[in-house]
Amino acid sequence: MACCLIGCGSNQGARREQLDRAIELLGVMPGITMRAVSRHRETRPIGGPPDQAPFLNGACLIETELGPHELLGVLAAVENTLHRDRTERWGPRTLDLDILLYDQLVLDNDVVEGSALTIPHPRMTTRRFVLEPAVEIAPDLRHPLSCCSLGDLLDNISQAHLHVAIVGAPGSGAAEVANAVADATLARLVQAPAAFPWPRPAGLPNVGSQSAAWSAALSACARPLESATWPDDPHGTVADYWLGSLLVAAEDAFSPTGLGRFTAEHAAVTAKTVTPHVAIMLRASPRTLAERVAAADLAADLGRLQDRLLARLRCGNQTGARGPHAVVVVAADDLSRATDEAIAAVEAAG
Ligand code: ATP
Ligand code: CA
Ligand code: CA
Ligand code: CA
Repeated sequence: MACCLIGCGSNQGARREQLDRAIELLGVMPGITMRAVSRHRETRPIGGPPDQAPFLNGACLIETELGPHELLGVLAAVENTLHRDRTERWGPRTLDLDILLYDQLVLDNDVVEGSALTIPHPRMTTRRFVLEPAVEIAPDLRHPLSCCSLGDLLDNISQAHLHVAIVGAPGSGAAEVANAVADATLARLVQAPAAFPWPRPAGLPNVGSQSAAWSAALSACARPLESATWPDDPHGTVADYWLGSLLVAAEDAFSPTGLGRFTAEHAAVTAKTVTPHVAIMLRASPRTLAERVAAADLAADLGRLQDRLLARLRCGNQTGARGPHAVVVVAADDLSRATDEAIAAVEAAG
């Protein structure tokens, strides 16, 4: 038996009746036992077409014998029974049922018979409309990628002034996206010092393996993030880089001994800086990255760098090291869509 958390939403038709009916239908499905249901709360729509009606959102906890894809099929069937229209992305809907958590299972775009499943739900960690009802019924449930509880995730986005880092490999578009997010949310923009030292790729800033140059880059990148002088930004801050990226970049530039020294120096410097609450990881195809930095031969290197960045964002939490609790991966091959997604991810926390 798996314990699953389901997110429920509706902003079209008789919202409350539809949500109640959905819970009732789920509970009588073979292989599903309803364990807990949150109350419904009204929330403002995030993303999607303008002028949408407000949502009612809730969550429920089930036990199920169904596998994750079978469960997704059942959720779709219940949505269909309640006349779900799927024409417009993030458009108005009579009913939306999402799998938020399925035990501690992690699936990244797992395709079975044409339907792709990502678990935990990829956008849940910054969504207040998801976390509030979820915490009402299951505050101690662990989120397997953030390695903290749902309660911790809600606390994390409930800071007075959110610090968001836009993270990506060279060519990810982090600077443009950060700029647009800061514009849309009125947050203060923190830009990387010009000398952000990515490794080898020709044509990119590269400080090589001289440790003095790396140390200089580290302190230049850390300076705007120092806790001691961190200003109180009423709308939060958005940085177009993350200090952890420097460590990932350094792995390509140093010998093991040199890397050990730099890692220690990095830890000491980072300890005096603010940690982002939210990281938005821009993930593009290696080819897109290489095209954007005009270095076609580096596609594979950039792809590997990007994979390591994402692993570092997540393992920062697993090892107990300081890292953002909320990591949202955004597809960045289309930058205008990535910008909309990044803005929605930040607005969802408010
Ligand atoms: P969001 O996913 O941002 O909440 P949405 O709920 O409006 O947006 P839908 O149009 O309902 O998105 O779903 C799009 C697709 O997402 C579905 O076809 C489904 O296969 C896929 N999907 C992937 N992971 C999940 C998940 N964990 N729960 C529900 N659907 C998922
Ligand atoms: Ca049942
Ligand atoms: Ca949804
Ligand atoms: Ca959905």
